[in-house]
Amino acid sequence: MHEIRVHNTLSGKVEPFVPLKAGVVHMYTCGPTVYDFAHIGNFRTFVFQDILRRFLRLRGFKLTHVMNLTDVDDRIIANAAAAGVGIREYTAKYVEAFYADCRTLSVESPEHWIRATDNIDEMVALIQKLQKKTYTYDSEGSIYYRISKFKDYGKLSKVDLSGIQAGARVDNDRYEKESARDFALWKAPKPGEHFWETPIGAGRPGWHIECSAMAMKYLGETIDIHTGGIDLAFPHHENEIAQSEAATGKPFVRFWMHAEHLLVEGEKMSKSLGNFFTLRDLFGKGYKPSALRFALASVPYRRQLNFTFDGLQQASSSVERLRNFAARLKNEKFPAGRQAGMSERIAKAASDFDAGLSDDLNTAQALAAVFDFVREANIAMDKGEFRKDEVKPAQEFLATFDKVFAVLEDNDAEKLQALGYDTGSDQASDAEIEKLVAARQAARQRRDFAESDRVRKELAERGILLEDTKDGSVRWKRK
Ligand code: AMP
Ligand code: ZN
Repeated sequence: MHEIRVHNTLSGKVEPFVPLKAGVVHMYTCGPTVYDFAHIGNFRTFVFQDILRRFLRLRGFKLTHVMNLTDVDDRIIANAAAAGVGIREYTAKYVEAFYADCRTLSVESPEHWIRATDNIDEMVALIQKLQKKTYTYDSEGSIYYRISKFKDYGKLSKVDLSGIQAGARVDNDRYEKESARDFALWKAPKPGEHFWETPIGAGRPGWHIECSAMAMKYLGETIDIHTGGIDLAFPHHENEIAQSEAATGKPFVRFWMHAEHLLVEGEKMSKSLGNFFTLRDLFGKGYKPSALRFALASVPYRRQLNFTFDGLQQASSSVERLRNFAARLKNEKFPAGRQAGMSERIAKAASDFDAGLSDDLNTAQALAAVFDFVREANIAMDKGEFRKDEVKPAQEFLATFDKVFAVLEDNDAEKLQALGYDTGSDQASDAEIEKLVAARQAARQRRDFAESDRVRKELAERGILLEDTKDGSVRWKRK
């Protein structure tokens, strides 16, 4: 196994990853703001953190991973007030959709799903701590963080503080990315909008204090890994550091990991450009969850991901190739014994796979290790050289791959049905196809060619192509 190295935004370097406590990783992920359906850009970042958590688990770490749902946010509060409903009621639909989307993309549940609305007391307590240490000032019923008092401000994002005007305040959760300004920890109530009555006054928390308070509540004052999309490094994560470290005097996060953005056909996703896609938009066009997961996972997280429909199609073929290979291992009859060099070849593939992921989660390199091996093993099978004793180690390697990538199981149709898509009764599962293929083989063996032709035709109608191989076995693939 290789040394795990990750890029730390804080140092700007790729560093060996060692958790604070041996064998245990405490990790926090900024979750979605639940005012709308998540888009495929959001899921680029959530699939990245899923690959990270799965890889750490594969490598034997025990994980405590927290993901929050940001359900207190300017847009949510304003939208809920406009709709005349409470925050919980307004966000329920998007929270459910987010959970369903995660299941559909095989994004594992973290150990804790948490919500801002359930942790207001901790946010208030953290603000009180900052008040005592004079990091705050009040203005018109709101409480602001005085960033000039925190000498390390800017250390994560390297934002230039030279232009900062003392006391320049911003009340919005999201503001322009260039200027560092004092930000609201607590916001005065606005007419008609939801607020909490608390010891620091009536109002609601700012976005940044939510994550600081929740991360420290669940994971302690110093946590191992904090993840998010690159747009969150400034100001959100910079502000989280300022709040947490001012309050505790300890380092808040040891490794900051940020995913670069997803672009669509080279452009930033936006509703006005018509290139804005939720998962459901793609499933509605007939694309499979496994293909989308593969497409999102296959580009290393620190590279921008240029999403294209061609790329999605290729991802679909790649998944198919792997599933076919797994089916060959399971179904074909191989001659007994070992093939010279093959067990070393499998061990090398496994080692290269681990090397790729250990190298700052280089998924492209890890996948190359898998596909190189699959190509060579397929050739060996076609030549009749692949032997029975190699089946189990090859299957074990595929299982290791799938613990991280999670695309081998043929469950796309079920997942889409669970989301309410009619995938059509002609969408056959692997098991059904294999049954038909076996029935055709049996018909051929008893020389009932009428029946074997009928089955081949039925399979063709369901989009399955058959290929008879030299050794008498049959391979199939979807058109
Ligand atoms: P939000 O719901 O806006 O708070 O975003 C949820 C997560 O998605 C955050 O980690 C963002 O940084 C990330 N994100 C937003 N847009 C993109 C994008 N186009 N590509 C990758 N990640 C993104
Ligand atoms: Zn956050």
